[in-house]
Amino acid sequence: MAPFTTIYRSFAEQAERQPDKTLFELPDGQSITYRETAQTARRIAARLVADGVIPGDRVAMQVEKSPEAVALYLATLQIGGVLLPLNTAYTGAEMEYFIGDAQPRVLVCSPDRRADHAHREGDGLVVETLGVLRDGTLLDGDDHHEEVYDASADDPASILYTSGTTGRSKGAVLTHGNLASNCRTLLEAWQYTADDRLIHALPIFHIHGLFVAVNMTLTAGASLHFLPRFAPETIIDLLPRATVLMGVPTFYTRLLKNDRLTPESCASMRLFVSGSAPLLASDHEAFEARTGHAILERYGMTETGMNTTNPYDGGPRKPGTVGTPLPGIEIRVVDRETGEALPDGEVGIIEVRGPNVFAGYWQMPEKTASEFREDGFFVTGDLGRIDEDGYLSIVGRDKDLVISGGYNIYPKEIEDLLNAHPRVLESAVIGVPHPDFGETVMAVVVPAPGRQPEGGELLDFIADDLARFKHPRAVRVVETLPRNVMGKVQKAELRKRYADLFTDVDA
Ligand code: ATP
Ligand code: MG
Repeated sequence: MAPFTTIYRSFAEQAERQPDKTLFELPDGQSITYRETAQTARRIAARLVADGVIPGDRVAMQVEKSPEAVALYLATLQIGGVLLPLNTAYTGAEMEYFIGDAQPRVLVCSPDRRADHAHREGDGLVVETLGVLRDGTLLDGDDHHEEVYDASADDPASILYTSGTTGRSKGAVLTHGNLASNCRTLLEAWQYTADDRLIHALPIFHIHGLFVAVNMTLTAGASLHFLPRFAPETIIDLLPRATVLMGVPTFYTRLLKNDRLTPESCASMRLFVSGSAPLLASDHEAFEARTGHAILERYGMTETGMNTTNPYDGGPRKPGTVGTPLPGIEIRVVDRETGEALPDGEVGIIEVRGPNVFAGYWQMPEKTASEFREDGFFVTGDLGRIDEDGYLSIVGRDKDLVISGGYNIYPKEIEDLLNAHPRVLESAVIGVPHPDFGETVMAVVVPAPGRQPEGGELLDFIADDLARFKHPRAVRVVETLPRNVMGKVQKAELRKRYADLFTDVDA
């Protein structure tokens, strides 16, 4: 077996090998090389060391997306610190929770947020600022820290908080080994090389944007078109100069609305990836018809990085599936009651084992113990099934499963049907308490722009495709669905809102 190489060392090797290569190309035309990034990282590392950061200390980063933010990440890895990426949208109470939970030594924020965090100084927390494009105090002074902490595979590299879709965000402890193994398997699976130019429009406080997209690029010696956010016009302008786009389903829904998305605009592109939430089958088809590219869907989570992917080559990309396990990763589907492995085709809880699986939840030993089986499999909380070719489909989340009169009902099946109605923009199907059935199904629907669907017409539309016990007993039309900061629908919020719908009536 080859000796363990951390992400930091892989990056440093690339910076030696091709110092003048562009790592970041920015929307204003500026480009930043591997050498410049390595130098910036060493300057930030000197500052962090001066602030007293020692190996194992947490370094919280709540800054706008910028090359300097990536350099801060690299600096933290270089000195053996543990990076705590925090969403820039978090405000007072949320920040109290994350800072209180993770107890960082240093919090790095953008200059305009400094005043928000001033009150945290004094309890041993150092607040630093990092401006976008070289005006931050973290870069003051000319000290460079050269020494590289000799991290082992089991050392923590990051505490990354989950998106908070099903409850309060949990801190997943990711090791240097987790990051490196995930990166290595994906480089191979997607044949990502130094020739790639990735359009990066994802946030960098999340597994996908930082530990997949950035790590793969740094390790391969490739280049990034580094965008502050997703903007369809900008992406389409960049496509002719790029090879890969890593996105989430809404990227594709929005790109498809733009007439400038054509086969010609995608001539240099070799790969479009989607993940984080289910890709609409209709978008998959429409995108292929429009551009000639089949979007490659994959499945991952904060706790595991990427688990499965549809093939880059050597097999079909099956719409509606997330593909097969990456090399070295085992996936099984088990009965939610007994924990016994299920035969292909049956729906159960997805469990994962492999070098990608995190070390545990930060300061939650009981939660960690309850989510791992004795044989080392991690219980994802997602429901899925494996088909005869070994492809996994995600059916929903275990917490969203509705059990009505003893029947299991998977909301996604009903949502997919509702979403196909021309007057529906999107929908969320939930279970609410019912005096006879324990729980029953209701649908919360957002109308398509300028359209107002009637509950009855929607029920008629889906009735033929669904067994009676799956029919929603109530439909509510709302303007928007509650979402967390990652844009995922918060069903727990909806369940709370409609908890008394049937129990009150029958009381
Ligand atoms: P929390 O764990 O705090 O409730 P979260 O699970 O949304 O939040 P993440 O780790 O960001 O936090 O998201 C991982 C989840 O996203 C997976 O467990 C799965 O439910 C969903 N997911 C990821 N990729 C896909 C995909 N391709 N199709 C469907 N769902 C996906
Ligand atoms: Mg989760």
